[in-house]
Amino acid sequence: MSRSTSISALRTVAAIGVFGIILLVPYYRTLKSLRNYEIRGQTMGTIYQVQVVTSLGKQLKKSGMDAKIDKLLVDINNWMSTYIPESDISRFNSAGHTNAFPVAADLAKVVKFASEVSEASGGAFDPTVGPLTLLWGFGRNGAITHSPDEEKIVEIKSAVGYGRLHVSDAPPALGKDVPGLELDLGAVAKGYGVDCVANLLLESGYSNVLVEIGGEIVALGYNQRKKSWRISIETPVLDAGVGEGRYRILLLSNKAVATSGDYRNYFKDGGHSYSHIIDPRTGRPVSNNVASVSVIADDCMTADALATALMVLGPEEGLKLLEKYPGSEGMFIIRNPDSTFSDRASQGFDDYVLKP
Ligand code: AMP
Ligand code: MG
Repeated sequence: MSRSTSISALRTVAAIGVFGIILLVPYYRTLKSLRNYEIRGQTMGTIYQVQVVTSLGKQLKKSGMDAKIDKLLVDINNWMSTYIPESDISRFNSAGHTNAFPVAADLAKVVKFASEVSEASGGAFDPTVGPLTLLWGFGRNGAITHSPDEEKIVEIKSAVGYGRLHVSDAPPALGKDVPGLELDLGAVAKGYGVDCVANLLLESGYSNVLVEIGGEIVALGYNQRKKSWRISIETPVLDAGVGEGRYRILLLSNKAVATSGDYRNYFKDGGHSYSHIIDPRTGRPVSNNVASVSVIADDCMTADALATALMVLGPEEGLKLLEKYPGSEGMFIIRNPDSTFSDRASQGFDDYVLKP
């Protein structure tokens, strides 16, 4: 190699080095100043948790984001909670007439979506299931220890059915064919709340965000390490504490995930477990070997509703329902007779699973 060639090679190496440093400095600066800000609180009878990855922490604090999130969730509860007697939904439920009932636009939107899922699932999902939920001791009237009489189940079931529910969005109003019809949005409201909080943050300029209400999650952008968010799916062991066992870890970015299961909210009578998920077609808690269902979707309201619907439908019918919702994937965890677990998932679910 001649002297002039080696000098020019050295210059090139030096230029690449300098250029590389110029490129890397801003990268490291952002990485260094990226912080994870956490906002927590209580809503819908559970805990919510928000993580915001940003270099604009001061701005986030100054904007009073925690109060804005809290207010948003209070509003949603005041429209959709059956535990609040003056909420829109409670007033609709107790209205002893069948005239059109004006409600908040958000409530009409969620009820419309819930009705569509009812239709798509052939009634496995049904937002009018409330009276049955109460009968089985999973609601504001408190728990029961013995399964109800068959006669009572038949009687209450006869007042349930999404076909008797009507929704209009302009102006937003609900209607019912029978005065006794009641709404219960327990299977979608958390997911809707998560979407609303995530949108609020996105609109405020924060695009790396994790929002969770009671296990229903939206993961936007990336985490503090500039990687997809890691979300655990629990092993559905009866009475396990939160986070006790991980069945899978998901890697999510700009996706939502919701999980429904029979392992936390249930009672036992005569050696049989009765879960809080009701099959509206039988009027009884679901009785299959599905321990939990996790659904990934583009938004959390969809993930939440589908996870509940799939608990009722089981794997065969459930996987068919997922095909009607592009962008959604699901995994069933099945409880085997020997208390081990196996799983069954839609084709694309595995793409989101962290490989060992
Ligand atoms: P999730 O935890 O999202 O599966 O929601 C469960 C809650 O949804 C229950 O506590 C009931 O309030 C309600 N629910 C139960 N069964 C159904 C069903 N088949 N369709 C719609 N909502 C239901
Ligand atoms: Mg749900």
